[in-house]
Amino acid sequence: MEDNVYIQNDTSVLYNLSPINIGTMEVESLTSYIARLSEEHCVNVNTLINEILIKEIEKEGLYRRRNLSAIYKTSTSKFNGLTTAAEKHSKILNKLTGRNDLQYITLIPYKGIINKCYLLSENKYWCPICLEEMKDSNDAVYEKLIWNFQLVDICHIHHIRLENKCTYCNTIQKSLQYNMINGYCQKCKSWLGREAAEVKIEKDLDNVFIIGQLLENTSQYYPFNKEIIQKNLRSLYEIIPSPKREYLEKNIGISDKQISRYISGDSNGLTIQSFINICLYYQISMRELITNYIDFSLEVRDEKKINRLRKYKRVDVRKLESDLKEYLKLTHKRKAPISILYIAEQLGVSDFTLIKYFPELIDQLKEINRKYRADVCIKRKNERMELVREETIKLFRSGIYPSFRKVNSKLPFTITGFEKIYRDKWEETILELGLSQRVNQYN
Ligand SMILES: [Zn+2]
Ligand SMILES: [Zn+2]
Repeated sequence: MEDNVYIQNDTSVLYNLSPINIGTMEVESLTSYIARLSEEHCVNVNTLINEILIKEIEKEGLYRRRNLSAIYKTSTSKFNGLTTAAEKHSKILNKLTGRNDLQYITLIPYKGIINKCYLLSENKYWCPICLEEMKDSNDAVYEKLIWNFQLVDICHIHHIRLENKCTYCNTIQKSLQYNMINGYCQKCKSWLGREAAEVKIEKDLDNVFIIGQLLENTSQYYPFNKEIIQKNLRSLYEIIPSPKREYLEKNIGISDKQISRYISGDSNGLTIQSFINICLYYQISMRELITNYIDFSLEVRDEKKINRLRKYKRVDVRKLESDLKEYLKLTHKRKAPISILYIAEQLGVSDFTLIKYFPELIDQLKEINRKYRADVCIKRKNERMELVREETIKLFRSGIYPSFRKVNSKLPFTITGFEKIYRDKWEETILELGLSQRVNQYN
């Protein structure tokens, strides 16, 4: 390849190349984008990085050259993650290509939400059948962001193990390399794809689909409201039975320390595995967990379901759709919720399969369930407020000052500082009894 860079003299320095499949589970990675962009300009990755990117990065004062070479030498998977390297490169590339969406082909939007520990693999992984299909369809060959995750080891389309070594020369492939071309070995230049001939692996792919949900929502919901997530985790923390540490670790699979630090705002995010475990345990989607307020006290657990074995089955979409519609009718008739997971189990597929194939039907189902739960929630809040009133009066009549703390200790549930409505009810009752609140009112 030539070392002379062809620079477009329009509005942008580089071609305005669109990233592939943005806003989907199949979204391209930034390193793949850099490789394609180089190819479009008929230069190798080395030239693009050294002649254009580095210069621009220095011009912007984002790096000193000394640091830069170190970054290229070490883990290049950082380019796709939530690191400063990813942030700066996507920023510079946005500027040079005249785009504004290249941060969405990295994990930068999740900075402070997801922890970078155990997140991305050091080296490149790929599905050989996916690559072959891209080549056959004459579309651009690209590498998917989802292949970078440490927790993703199987292709969710072809159900085969992802690879990280060239089958011809056995070389481990790096995420970004100076002369890389998507889909080809960085050493011997052999094609890394091949036709399907393998036996499908039967493995639960819930992990992969939850990560997929994450990638689907990046551009749509960014910037994320960290407070929603904090509040959700607080709600979760409050309803789990004591001893909390043990419950969190044994049942849900998250550490008490990790969650407490996140709630108090003193954290770089939960590990991706923790997020996945919460989604699986409470049967909620990643999108719900990070963008909606969730009342965890309403998420009903069925212990039997937790350790269920969900095996991969070939999906008969048409049959599944008519079955799902039947359940929807039933839910309407009963005016009571039927969980997605329950239906999925009855139909012998995973809930993620249902969400994936029938998003609209699932949304309808969720809406019915949500309405029902909201009614239950109001009813229960009223009952609890009544209990606060009763306990306050009871204490008063037995000659004890009904302090908030004392009333709280008599209740069959715990009121935390976050539930103002109960405190208001207590205050109201105190006034009704002709008492005044003591200075130290919560003691
Ligand atoms: Zn594949
Ligand atoms: Zn090779």
